[in-house]
Amino acid sequence: MKTEFSLVQLADPDIAEADKILRACVHCGFCTATCPTYVLLGDELDSPRGRIYLIKEMLEKDQAPTPEVVKHVDRCLSCLACMTTCPSGVNYMHLVDQARVRIEQRYQRQLAERLLRRLLAFVLPDPRWFRISMRLAQLARPLAVFLPTPRPSATPGLVQRLKAMLALAPGRLPAPGAPPGSVFAALGKKRGRVALLQGCAQQVLAPRINQAAISLLTRHGIEVVLVKDEQCCGALTHHLGDDEDALARARANVAAWHREAAGEGLDAILVTTSGCGTVIKDYGYLLREDAVFAADAAKVSALAKDITEYVAGLSLAPSTQRDNIVVAYHSACSLQHGQKITGLPKELLSKNGFVVKDVPESHLCCGSAGTYNILQPELAGRLRDRKVANIASVKPDMIAAGNIGCMVQIAGGTSVPVVHTIELLDWATGGARPALNASS
Ligand code: SF4
Ligand code: SF4
Repeated sequence: MKTEFSLVQLADPDIAEADKILRACVHCGFCTATCPTYVLLGDELDSPRGRIYLIKEMLEKDQAPTPEVVKHVDRCLSCLACMTTCPSGVNYMHLVDQARVRIEQRYQRQLAERLLRRLLAFVLPDPRWFRISMRLAQLARPLAVFLPTPRPSATPGLVQRLKAMLALAPGRLPAPGAPPGSVFAALGKKRGRVALLQGCAQQVLAPRINQAAISLLTRHGIEVVLVKDEQCCGALTHHLGDDEDALARARANVAAWHREAAGEGLDAILVTTSGCGTVIKDYGYLLREDAVFAADAAKVSALAKDITEYVAGLSLAPSTQRDNIVVAYHSACSLQHGQKITGLPKELLSKNGFVVKDVPESHLCCGSAGTYNILQPELAGRLRDRKVANIASVKPDMIAAGNIGCMVQIAGGTSVPVVHTIELLDWATGGARPALNASS
């Protein structure tokens, strides 16, 4: 794609990067076929190619974002299916991230929208506030019936979003997991030492996921540390376009993990929420211009691994699973498109005695996408229903996924138990049987 940035514009490293990305696009349109919003809405401007044109225009003319640009960029899930499909290697992720930052910096959203986004950016990354907000949502949920039922719309209003938030609150909250700073000793001969990302929403909604990871790892000789001073990875505010907050969190985490690695040592930083893993693996890029943090951020990104990547390198204990449990494997977008981890979780599950079924249209997002299911509830609901119907077609006993956002989203539309892949692997190799829904 031909671009027309001036030399002055190209002196800005972000614009130079955008120029490189845009020039790689040959407008072939292959990406439109796998884009969930194009599949649902059939509008070129809700396809990757359409959004690329809108962003190009905005950046080249150095314009403030128009309402049209904001509408179509907001509807993008950042699922990155387009990056998997693109034959030219267009890095849509870094382009749309830039667009989101520009929108937050230069576009005046309506007051209610601004307040909602601020609230989400404040509450979701902080487990204490998130827990309080979940309790309040549990109390408020019965009142949801008194809210008017708005007509379904791809441009949602506040009432629709409030209803979506209340619907996502779990029936009950589990007790918190181990506190930051905890160290779990390896059982038997020590073979390694890892940090396990504590996460923010996940540690409130389903601490059992990291408990399963700790159980499996320690049984296989790996010492696990929950690093003190670790924060939310920044993914949530990053996807809301609040780069200042996201980069501050990235720097704090790089510093905390670097201290731990320089102290007792770390073989890896393990992540059980693939949405977080995708962003942590990108810290090296996000902080590339930071003279103080660039080198350490690159090291942290190199150490970051999805839990399945690390577990695949262990010789797991023989599986005790003999029940031919049929597992529908839901491939989280952040895992399959963001981190290009596709076959590995399924291989691990199969090797450990589960009958693994691929889900039709597995490239399409379930609609969770960070805060998307709150900010775009109509589109998110349609994607969830489509995902749940596809999952039902393989008649599973259980659904496995590697991302808490997907687990909560899918569990909201089905009675089939939804578990994390690591819970099944832990169970198969001698750990506890998983609890049977994402929020218990
Ligand atoms: S598939 Fe890639 S090159 Fe083709 S239009 Fe989409 S982004 Fe551009
Ligand atoms: S990230 Fe997903 S929703 Fe956004 S343009 Fe790409 S395929 Fe479409």
